[in-house]
Amino acid sequence: MCRVLSCRNQLHRIMVRRRFLCSFVVTPFILILGTVLASGHEGTHPGGSSEEPLKSRVDIEIEGDFRLIEANGLPDHQHGQFPNRRNPHSITTQRYAYRVPAKPETASRLTYLGRSPFGIATNGIPFDPGTAEYWQNDPDSGWRYEALAGQIDLGVDESHAHVQPNGAYHYHGLPTALVAALGGNSEKMLLLGYAADGFPIYAPRAYADSDDAQSELKEMKSSYRLKEGNRSTGPQGRHDGSFTEDYEYIEEAGDLDECNGRTGVTPEYPEGSYYYVLTEGFPWIPRAFKGSPDLSFKRRGPAGGGPGPRGNRRPPPPFRNDRPPRP
Ligand SMILES: [Zn+2]
Repeated sequence: MCRVLSCRNQLHRIMVRRRFLCSFVVTPFILILGTVLASGHEGTHPGGSSEEPLKSRVDIEIEGDFRLIEANGLPDHQHGQFPNRRNPHSITTQRYAYRVPAKPETASRLTYLGRSPFGIATNGIPFDPGTAEYWQNDPDSGWRYEALAGQIDLGVDESHAHVQPNGAYHYHGLPTALVAALGGNSEKMLLLGYAADGFPIYAPRAYADSDDAQSELKEMKSSYRLKEGNRSTGPQGRHDGSFTEDYEYIEEAGDLDECNGRTGVTPEYPEGSYYYVLTEGFPWIPRAFKGSPDLSFKRRGPAGGGPGPRGNRRPPPPFRNDRPPRP
């Protein structure tokens, strides 16, 4: 999720002098106590033009049935200048402590992404695609702006990332610099991170034959498409992709399912696994879980304000997977 204040200029043109809260829709992941995700403000980084990677720290290890991920949230690659005109926040150190199932399982129903991050990259940066930039700044309008659709400029850098008010650098789309650091996605599938439900997240190019690790790589296409015709409510006009609600899932329209994933073999899962794919187009980062997201990813506190204080080290029980289906 992101919350970006003072996104002037273009934002104001579109949204008519409003201060944008790029926070998440307050969507109902079940309220269960205890989130470990925490933001510290230790070691404030000056931000600014950073050609140099910050001092990133990430630790990923298996412990029992879980994969534990601790990180300080600082990018380990070149990043854009923060603050910038459209994202007035500096990158600061975070204290992330997530856990996901080491052997994730699909659930009986999908869980749609609420106001929490979708997952975390192997370099410790969250995948956090949602916004709460609403048409006329009205969450009840049902029309939420998409960060990468080109209609609003939230100051993202070349890795499709920017910074929350609490200093959390986060990805809204493909982490270009991370892909490059891993050697590129032209000849091998790239594991980029883990979703909150424990399934792995890969770069756009995956095996053309999902069960054949010898098959060539092919860019995966999502099965989301722009709706046809005009919006019947809210902003009216053509479904041009500015809003999340401009898109619809059409089964088998692309290579991926509603969660922007598929099942198959990967370098890290030679026996096969469900996995998510980041795509070049909507949804960029998946908006639904095939499994059950762990509560350690749940964001609490004021919308967009980031996580609460670091609690006890022991991660809470997983999310329950009973959010009602999206209309
Ligand atoms: Zn954001």
